[in-house]
Amino acid sequence: MSFQNPVFIPGPTNIPESLRKACDMPTIDHRSPLFGTILHPARKAVQAILKSTSAEVFIFPSTGTGGWETAITNTLSEGDTVLVARNGMFSHRWIDMCERHGLELIIVDVAWGQGIPADRFEEILTGDTAHRIKAVLATHNETATGVVSDIGAIRHAMDAAGHPAMLMVDGVSSIASMDFRFDAWGVDVAVTGSQKGFMLPPGLAIVGFSEKAMDATKTAGLHRTFFDVHDMMKGYANSAYPYTPAVGLMNGLNEACRMLMDEGLETVFARHHRIAEGVRRAVWAWGLELCAESPDVYSDTISAVRTPNGFNATDIVTHAASTYGVAFGVGLGDVAGKVFRIGHLGSLTEVMTLSGIATAEMCMVDLGLDIKLGSGVAAAQEYYRYGSEIEQKVA
Ligand code: PLP
Repeated sequence: MSFQNPVFIPGPTNIPESLRKACDMPTIDHRSPLFGTILHPARKAVQAILKSTSAEVFIFPSTGTGGWETAITNTLSEGDTVLVARNGMFSHRWIDMCERHGLELIIVDVAWGQGIPADRFEEILTGDTAHRIKAVLATHNETATGVVSDIGAIRHAMDAAGHPAMLMVDGVSSIASMDFRFDAWGVDVAVTGSQKGFMLPPGLAIVGFSEKAMDATKTAGLHRTFFDVHDMMKGYANSAYPYTPAVGLMNGLNEACRMLMDEGLETVFARHHRIAEGVRRAVWAWGLELCAESPDVYSDTISAVRTPNGFNATDIVTHAASTYGVAFGVGLGDVAGKVFRIGHLGSLTEVMTLSGIATAEMCMVDLGLDIKLGSGVAAAQEYYRYGSEIEQKVA
């Protein structure tokens, strides 16, 4: 079995050589001051990526799921009410976690393919005059459907309702790839992981807490040990951890943030947008549709592509892996078998993306779909050649 790149799953993403090298370091004493030279810059660098000047950043040896648990267990108590929308598998899993922790949920179910309805949130929050709702949970980018939601609009809804709930945002597949504004959007807890926009192997849960969220930790009653941010803060004060940190990954995180800042965050976001737009043009040239229902919710990190009725979309993923050694993402939950997912985030260029589009095209033709070889590639090529020019003219 050989390992081939690039991958087109929506995380983990391709790992640049410099990051692989940064993670591969000799053991150091994580209880010595040397560790502080990795820990403190990493926390500071993540804060900048979040576009925050004050967020407390916590880095756990874990994954995004651990980040969800950090968010809720440190700020909420059993029986607290949480408002959340379910529009895909990841929002569903966060809901499931909240239920298992004994939280009360107000769930707004929307079609998989739509974004979080900020107007509906505003109605519910306005009606909650007793301020029973302690937190609003939002999945910024639903990785299952390729749908981005407007977090600024959710903040606006909360403010319009005059509601004091905390705003907790899952940015696992958006942060470091798509615009994310911790301070400007009044985010109280942001959650991400190492294996998507940061282009690292999985293994870190990366979480930002606002002052308000830190205040909530003083009274939060949910049980926590491994993910206790107070234990973490005590450790950080001594440049240490309450347990053994993933030192190599954190060294990689420093390097990843340096790469992102060197490229420029806005340039990183623009690159993701350009790459995504080429993929979307390919999808339309194939005569297929995105799971995302309207342009305002198109994700720049992942496209979930609907296949014709009666065709099992998972076959494309299986065939691509076995025949061409290329990885795409399968559909999850309600859209399993109905979509396949093209991940286009992290360390990726337009030219690399063309190889993914070409592979998907070959698979679909091999499997008997009525698609013309080269049609998607050509549409993306046209855009990648002239896209920015066209966009400039339109602007
Ligand atoms: N949230 C979103 C939006 C995700 O895409 C994922 C994973 O893909 C998760 C949460 C869970 O993260 P992890 O698999 O790192 O635990």
